Amino acid sequence: MRQDPRRRPFALATALGLVLGACAAPRPATLAIRDVTVVDVVDGTLAPGRTVLVDGDRIVEIGASGEVAIAKRAEVVEGAGGFLVPGLWDAHVHSAASLDWHFPLFLAHGVTSVRNMHSTVDDALALVREIQSRLEAGTLAGPRFLANGAIVDGDPPSWPGSVVVRDAEEARAAVDRLADGGADFVKVYDRLTPEAYAAILERARERGIPVDGHVPASVRPRDAAAAGQRTIEHGIGMTLGCSSAADSLRAEYRGFLERLPQMPPYPDAVAGHFQWVRRAIETRDAERCRETARTLREHSVVSVPTLVITAASGPEALLADEAWTSLLPASVREGWRAMSAQTDPIAEALGSTAEPALDNVRLLHEAGVPILAGTDVGNPFLVPGRSLHRELARLTEAGLSPLDALRAATLSPARTFGLEDELGTVEAGKLADLVLLEANPLERIENAGRIAAVVRNGRLLRRADLDALLARAAAWTPE
Ligand SMILES: [Zn+2]
Repeated sequence: MRQDPRRRPFALATALGLVLGACAAPRPATLAIRDVTVVDVVDGTLAPGRTVLVDGDRIVEIGASGEVAIAKRAEVVEGAGGFLVPGLWDAHVHSAASLDWHFPLFLAHGVTSVRNMHSTVDDALALVREIQSRLEAGTLAGPRFLANGAIVDGDPPSWPGSVVVRDAEEARAAVDRLADGGADFVKVYDRLTPEAYAAILERARERGIPVDGHVPASVRPRDAAAAGQRTIEHGIGMTLGCSSAADSLRAEYRGFLERLPQMPPYPDAVAGHFQWVRRAIETRDAERCRETARTLREHSVVSVPTLVITAASGPEALLADEAWTSLLPASVREGWRAMSAQTDPIAEALGSTAEPALDNVRLLHEAGVPILAGTDVGNPFLVPGRSLHRELARLTEAGLSPLDALRAATLSPARTFGLEDELGTVEAGKLADLVLLEANPLERIENAGRIAAVVRNGRLLRRADLDALLARAAAWTPE
């Protein structure tokens, strides 16, 4: 094509502009991670030789190291040989009442966001709202904190501190109170009646507040999916949905609820529930499992299987492992030792359910149901941060690739919780929650635990800072 001479000055100006641009003053930045390999969790590609600029709480530029100018005032991290991934999520924790030792451990393990699922305190919502405002004001260091306040359960509830609803009217009122009070979501629980459950889901839809949690024992998993429950915890949907005796088990559960008021709350009531779960697992049918997984997929339900709570190695192994026990405050370590010496009614009722739990996750993953990494930290024998890395490994044992497992702690939670414009990938414009790893997590998911530095909301924590956080957690003593 013949060149139009009139266009040349413009072309020249453009070329000059590009040159000038490269030599121009560097973009303002408070932090630069130089020469790092950026891991794209969307497609699993690696971009080596990148420099990532952060200004304040945001990633502002990512480019080839030779082409990105670093402002003089920026703090520089040498990223050569390292891999940069988005900050990790633990999508199922109970931490509101244990901040002082949980939060440093989360940050030290690269966990920059959590979803808190209930705390057994009098006013759980007031407590989590206070935590959120302290985090926002910067007077508390910890992960981003999505939270529900109290769980909503039937009468009598499984746990103290629950919001108890007996019928549709109370259910709607409970949703209104939680929504008005600023809860990020509603958590539903085991003992809700089908009527109350349906009313919660309906009112929550009207109020625009998501509903996460257990599938109540009296509700069919496919009805929970169709009603719009966003996440199902602990693989409960599959446990119940896979059972060939589901209908008779549901009828039996009504009998259990009627006997409950006469039972001592612990351990009989707890063991009774888990004996019932055990029977659901014993009547597991592979075709029903696949059908349930397909139904959950159709209704865009997200699964948070918390495999780490059914991990094959029990409390004794954990308590014998210095790598785990050294992280714990002495009072917690001693408390867990005392607990491990007693029989656990839940473990006794359930026996080992690790195998079907892994198989269910494999079926969910094959069906295309998004999986989130969550741990149930706050329960005994689960260590904030460290257990999340264990969960990632368990997910790969269930058949997820290391990339899939990494997504389960980054992109998938960000999408599920409506935060993908802000979090979940390493991209310019997003909030600066980042983890710098010493080795490639896509080769071995265990490499996600080899942490050189963490950035939480733009604030850099180098290895020495992370070690100081570990020491602070271990030194914590109850008041
Ligand atoms: Zn939980």
